[in-house]
Amino acid sequence: MSNMEPPHPLPPHVLIFPLPCQGHVNSMLNLAQLLSLAGLHVTFLNSDHNHDLLVRYTDIQARFACYPGFRFTTIPDGLPLEHPRNGESFMELFDAVKSITMPLFREMLVSGQFGLVNCIIADGIMGYTIDIANELGIPIFHFRTISACSFWAYFSIPQLIEAGEIPIKGNEDMDALVKSVPGMETFLRSRDLPSFCRCSDVFNPGLQLVMNETRQSPRARGLILNTFENLEGPILSQIRTQCPTTYTIGPLHAHLKSRLAKHATNTLQRSSNSSSLWEVDRSCMTWLDQQSSQSVVYISFGSIAVLTREQVIEFWYGVVNSKKNFLWVRRPDSIAGNKEGESEDIPVELVEGTKERGYMVGWAPQEEVLAHKAVGGFLTHSGWNSTLESIVAGVPMVCWPYFADQQVNSRFVSEAWKLGVDMKDLCDRKIVEQMLNDLMVERRTEFVKSTAEMAGMSRRSVNEGGSSYSNFDRLIEDIRLMSM
Ligand code: UDP
Repeated sequence: MSNMEPPHPLPPHVLIFPLPCQGHVNSMLNLAQLLSLAGLHVTFLNSDHNHDLLVRYTDIQARFACYPGFRFTTIPDGLPLEHPRNGESFMELFDAVKSITMPLFREMLVSGQFGLVNCIIADGIMGYTIDIANELGIPIFHFRTISACSFWAYFSIPQLIEAGEIPIKGNEDMDALVKSVPGMETFLRSRDLPSFCRCSDVFNPGLQLVMNETRQSPRARGLILNTFENLEGPILSQIRTQCPTTYTIGPLHAHLKSRLAKHATNTLQRSSNSSSLWEVDRSCMTWLDQQSSQSVVYISFGSIAVLTREQVIEFWYGVVNSKKNFLWVRRPDSIAGNKEGESEDIPVELVEGTKERGYMVGWAPQEEVLAHKAVGGFLTHSGWNSTLESIVAGVPMVCWPYFADQQVNSRFVSEAWKLGVDMKDLCDRKIVEQMLNDLMVERRTEFVKSTAEMAGMSRRSVNEGGSSYSNFDRLIEDIRLMSM
């Protein structure tokens, strides 16, 4: 380079900060990897606790070593080591992050521990990050790990309160249509509202949290959503009335695969996309190889849900009685009050039924499982990552939402997108059996068609020329411009 040439500008440095939970870390790591592929410098801020698990259970070297501009940094999540960090005590995590992690985050930024940060992409459920970014003059984007429809339902909570539609008055009102979420008037019932709306008064901490944090996003430079236009177009139009700069760049796991496949170097193409905070049991892939095409129901309730023993038994009877083959993820901490290794006292007919046609693991390589040809249905808690992974794989769903945004997602899966059935609020062996039969036999043709169409649209959106692909290019361009 001659002395006369201007120095090559450094790539923008983006700081990514997820809420410390598996689902949030998964999708934001995919985003981080996409930004790295685009040549940006990326710092991923992980909680100490999650980082230890990630290092233990995921080959992060294989995934990130080939990006010179990528690094992890850690911060405490504010909870004691032995805290379960699952659905039984979820609010404690939010409280600790807000009161302990956030002041530390501010300190780290002020003292320059991250180096020069051109832009922050923070998890929008921590809406308050915007105050810190504004105070320090750093541009900030909010990324939400939930669907557009759930984001919009959260965003509409003030109108729902104003109209007296929440708190929901009683059981008799659960099937009444809700009128105060624009765009959902014809099919959203009270029971489909986010679980936090099932409260006795509007000062409920969960309700206040999702309402207040979600309301911060119009103040960000932009809102980034893990969804695609063909799936949620009408609701995205509603969101854009409040957040005009909304980038839809999902499904992120498929988007990442699409960009990696185009990349010239072998090292990048071979790099793994998985990120797990649990020990993955791959033996289920060998078991799946032995099953016939589309015969298996995959069962998983995600990383947070905790079921009662009675619920597990009802599901178990329903699945065994349906005579379907099944692969069931049973996290060691997923039964309320059950200590790891404690006997569960399971009826013998269930144990026998499982030996005949079932397989159980503590944690599965879910993306791979859903893509396996033997899998024909997904009994899911309707977490957004799981829903998107199922959509891309073209697998129809029986939804049993556990909490938060999942109540909204499951209604969209069944009523708006017709990609499965919704078993919300019911947990009875006869219903489980009947729903699995609907999915795998009675309504099979209909679901095979609808899921194949949506899978095709999801893949096109992340390929060159697709909406998510173009929106991501626009996001990179905007980050570059604001970093000059
Ligand atoms: N997951 C996995 N193996 C399992 C169960 C879940 O890899 O056995 C992954 C799944 O692929 C998804 C994430 O964990 O990416 C769960 O996120 P989701 O938003 O569906 O639900 P959450 O755990 O946040 O309730």
